Amino acid sequence: MPESTPRSFDLLILGGGSGGYAAAFRASQLGLTVGLVEESKVGGTCLHNGCVPTKALLHAAEVADNARDGAKYGVNATLDSIDMAVVNEYKQGVVDRLYKGLQGLVKARKVELIEGHGTLVGPDAIEVRGERYTAKNIVLATGSYARSLPGLEITGRVMTSDQALQMDTVPSSAIVLGGGVIGVEFASVWKSFGADVTIVEALPHLVPNEDEVLSKGLERAFRRRKIDYKLGVKFQGVEQTDSGVKVSLEDGTVLEADVLLVSVGRGPRTSGLGYEEQGVRMDRGFVLTDERLHTGVANIYAVGDIVPGLQLAHRGFQQGIFVAETIAGLSPQPIVEANIPRVTYCEPEVASVGLTESKAREIHGDDAVEALEYNLGGNGKSQILGTQGFIKLVRVKNGPVVGVHMLGSRVGEQIGEAQLIVSWEAHPEDVAPLIHAHPTQNEAMGEAHLALAGKPLHAHD
Ligand SMILES: Cc1cc2nc3c(=O)[nH]c(=O)nc-3n(C[C@H](O)[C@H](O)[C@H](O)COP(=O)(O)OP(=O)(O)OC[C@H]3O[C@@H](n4cnc5c(N)ncnc54)[C@H](O)[C@@H]3O)c2cc1C
Repeated sequence: MPESTPRSFDLLILGGGSGGYAAAFRASQLGLTVGLVEESKVGGTCLHNGCVPTKALLHAAEVADNARDGAKYGVNATLDSIDMAVVNEYKQGVVDRLYKGLQGLVKARKVELIEGHGTLVGPDAIEVRGERYTAKNIVLATGSYARSLPGLEITGRVMTSDQALQMDTVPSSAIVLGGGVIGVEFASVWKSFGADVTIVEALPHLVPNEDEVLSKGLERAFRRRKIDYKLGVKFQGVEQTDSGVKVSLEDGTVLEADVLLVSVGRGPRTSGLGYEEQGVRMDRGFVLTDERLHTGVANIYAVGDIVPGLQLAHRGFQQGIFVAETIAGLSPQPIVEANIPRVTYCEPEVASVGLTESKAREIHGDDAVEALEYNLGGNGKSQILGTQGFIKLVRVKNGPVVGVHMLGSRVGEQIGEAQLIVSWEAHPEDVAPLIHAHPTQNEAMGEAHLALAGKPLHAHD
């Protein structure tokens, strides 16, 4: 450690992922001195093992689909092979450029990067490599890890997203255990790259946290893409040989494939870090906080994947900003979890914000809720792209839109407007007069609101 490294800060942050570095940058903007403890690379899961590399793979997958399907549009091309070395080089190039930019920001914002494994050793202290650092405020932001199931060892051909992202070949076939966001994204990539894919999901639907129409729509789309899935059935065991994996399910089915991807969720990375010892309240490894992300102990806050709720990078960013502003004496508005946009980047994409129809009915009462689906069949740009799907709106009768749920290629790009509509509690009648450019997929958002406001234009009654 250089002699000049300070030992005492206004704010010390444990973990430099999305939540941690956002807190660091905002706090330093607000004039606080900040120490950021990171044992690996600033940027965390999202930049190095999550959002960014997976979306690069999904883009390469889209290019593969375009090459394969070119003839449909009169562009005759053949897809010869996927060169994973080049795919990985492209993916890593994106990550490296962003990482360099982020390291530059850490320096520019004068955030003191303390490299090494940190543990909480007091209500105002973190120890790193035998050195004790103190601060008036502490933010815990140690993120998450890929979970497995009891007795299911991650080794060889049985992998999580961490190993799957490093693969230097395309598997000829894959079983994906877990049909949540990470599972369906990898299934989508591998199918586009030419693999036979089967998803196994214990719950009755793929992307089970979404409005049921999105789950069913994605299941139909995956069936058309010949991505297999087994729903409502539990994993029993796996046998691994030199040439593949044999997965048995509780209903007696045995599936064979080249690899098994275990995508059964992410657990909080909190064990052995001194949290409980300092009195931080925990539930199954997650850190419990109030709505202001305070742990209830001294000036200790928590952000990101260790706090129960949606495990998304932009939630971590916003929580980091929120906590930094709170510590600096501002009074930011608490984050409304339901209004955090959610995008699953498989093909077709799934995107939503706000309440599902069933949740809205539970909260507002069955008679007080109205829903409408606008089919992308009536949307020019979607026809041009050759995508099927829909936008579903959920509103309180005579009241605001409380949920927007979308399925179709590229619909994730529509989540920005959807988010404004839900967060600003717009009524369909407020959105209907807003002009949506023609021909864009965004027009479908306008059309859906026109229809819900009782004046559909390009929709059959
Ligand atoms: C395959 C995959 C795809 C994903 N895709 C998306 C997506 O498209 N969009 C999206 O919004 N989210 C996505 N996510 C989720 C997203 O990556 C996480 O929600 C986000 O990274 C959480 O941020 P965080 O700051 O809580 O934790 P992390 O990003 O996990 O950061 C925690 C950091 O803390 C460090 N750390 C932990 N313990 C210590 C310690 N004791 N001492 C020092 N340092 C420590 C770690 O090294 C790490 O850098 C994806 C995740 C995965 C795995």
